[in-house]
Amino acid sequence: MTRHRNQMLSRRGFCLCCLSAPAMVAGGWLTPRQAFAAAQGIVQLIKADAATAPIVVHRLRGNVAVLEGSGGNVAVLSGRDGKVMIDAGIAVSQPHMAAALAMLGPEPLTHLINTHWHFDHANGNQWLYLLGPRIVGHENTRKHLATLQRVEDWDYDFAPLPHDALPGTVFADSYGMKLNNTPIELQYYGPAHTDSDISVHLAELDIVHTGDTFWDGIYPFIDYSTGGSIDGQIRAADANLKLCTKDTIIIPGHGGPVSNRTELKNFRDMLVAIRENVATLKRQGRTLGEIVAARPTAPFDAKWGQFVIGPALFTKLVYEGV
Ligand SMILES: [Zn+2]
Repeated sequence: MTRHRNQMLSRRGFCLCCLSAPAMVAGGWLTPRQAFAAAQGIVQLIKADAATAPIVVHRLRGNVAVLEGSGGNVAVLSGRDGKVMIDAGIAVSQPHMAAALAMLGPEPLTHLINTHWHFDHANGNQWLYLLGPRIVGHENTRKHLATLQRVEDWDYDFAPLPHDALPGTVFADSYGMKLNNTPIELQYYGPAHTDSDISVHLAELDIVHTGDTFWDGIYPFIDYSTGGSIDGQIRAADANLKLCTKDTIIIPGHGGPVSNRTELKNFRDMLVAIRENVATLKRQGRTLGEIVAARPTAPFDAKWGQFVIGPALFTKLVYEGV
């Protein structure tokens, strides 16, 4: 899967969580993709990409599949109780997403879970709600989707979703369902990547969807505008490590569609090391520009810095929280 990933990422192009406002990256080193992203209207770029990207279906065990190509990784559990969808992708992918869902079988969509409120995970609620699913998410997901949201680091204001497209079933800490003979445990992380992130654990199948608390092999976006932080992101990575064994199939929010505990541990260790490097420099009184110039992410950039969140932006995101 890891070898697969770069191919997937290049075909999929841009996703919202991976992008930044031009000002954030202007002071640092950019890959061609980052420079291109910085020069475009970001959300328009993402929508254009998602509108044309194919949806690639990866079948896992136990009638679970991952649909890749519309923002964050979408998972689907199919069976007699209907399809249970974990994340919704971006609404402009509707024709491709509908075709991919149909390919998985004739069952109707009966449940839709949002791992958090971000556009590239919940915007598809806008058309999926018309299929009549029960929509489930954390109470902060509903709160953010119900009102206009500004994300500073994307320099973008997101309009509220229609009332019927909001999660109608919300919870504060945890929520359980049993569908298609499969217990489904939803657990709030506490503030992490945002203040609305939940894990979706199919314990009997040993499959976990982490939402954007785990980015496989790429630097993550951290949304300080709605309660995320580097320390929250690290706490969530620790929670994920407790949840997973070496046999667990892990579906990350971004990066490859399927990952494992070894990669999750690498992600957690990368976050901790860069946090320490940046915090040390900040304690010395260095400015953000000086810290970016000191390249506190350098040992990790070859592996983690190849997607749209580059070393400079990731340094800035860590700096904001230490
Ligand atoms: Zn996100």
